[in-house]
Amino acid sequence: MTMAIVQANRVSVDFSGFKALNKVNFYMDTGELRFLIGPNGAGKTTLLDVICGKVKPTEGEVLFGDNIDIGKLSEYRIARCGVSRKFQTPSIFENLTVLENMELSLKSGRGLVSSCFRKPDSAARDRIHAVLRNVDLDEKADQKAGYLSHGEKQWLEIAMTIMQEPKLLLVDEPVAGMTGRERNRTGEILMEIAEERSVLVVEHDMNFVKRFAKTVTVLHEGRVLCEGTFEEVSNDPTVIDVYLGR
Ligand code: ADP
Repeated sequence: MTMAIVQANRVSVDFSGFKALNKVNFYMDTGELRFLIGPNGAGKTTLLDVICGKVKPTEGEVLFGDNIDIGKLSEYRIARCGVSRKFQTPSIFENLTVLENMELSLKSGRGLVSSCFRKPDSAARDRIHAVLRNVDLDEKADQKAGYLSHGEKQWLEIAMTIMQEPKLLLVDEPVAGMTGRERNRTGEILMEIAEERSVLVVEHDMNFVKRFAKTVTVLHEGRVLCEGTFEEVSNDPTVIDVYLGR
């Protein structure tokens, strides 16, 4: 039996009379790697913003995991429940090494400032190196993050979010600006992460979505237009009409 990791019930977001989301019903199973697609302005970012608490719904409810109502919780509280967001532009510290960036992102109740001054114990170090290995960066642990390639910076930030041990990882356009090889590796990394966690990805690159998505949700004008496998949604006449344009 599966269980929802996140569930939005009739969620609307109203920006001064403009409905960025309009009674959206969205359900994601625990352990899914879900892709969210749709034209610019469809409401994809707003849905991620609602799930991580950056934007509050004007109506409807957002349930997380074991029916925790996160719709009114602060971003901080939602993060503590197990939701992490990886934004499109990496927010790594370029003058610090890869390892130092990872140390900064260490979870536990310590908070950022105290974790800056406390060296991680050996178990934490092992964990950092294991996570870095998963994103092919362990050999670059002592390199300044500023010298990483664009793709590697994205992987470092994914690794940093994983240190917070999220149950649900929200990812904004992970492959924008990447080389073909980096795109493929990013897809593999996201699939590997989804073996342990739930992952929701906003993506415009349809070749990437086609290759790595099992289930795709299409948003349009603040509503869920259609949901299914890539093949199903890409053959839907309305999706073709409003988004894929074939
Ligand atoms: P997408 O990510 O699918 O491109 P967004 O969720 O960013 O779409 O935006 C949905 C709509 O809501 C857009 O028309 C956008 O201009 C509008 N919007 C987003 N954020 C705000 C805001 N803070 N104030 C007013 N309108 C907004």
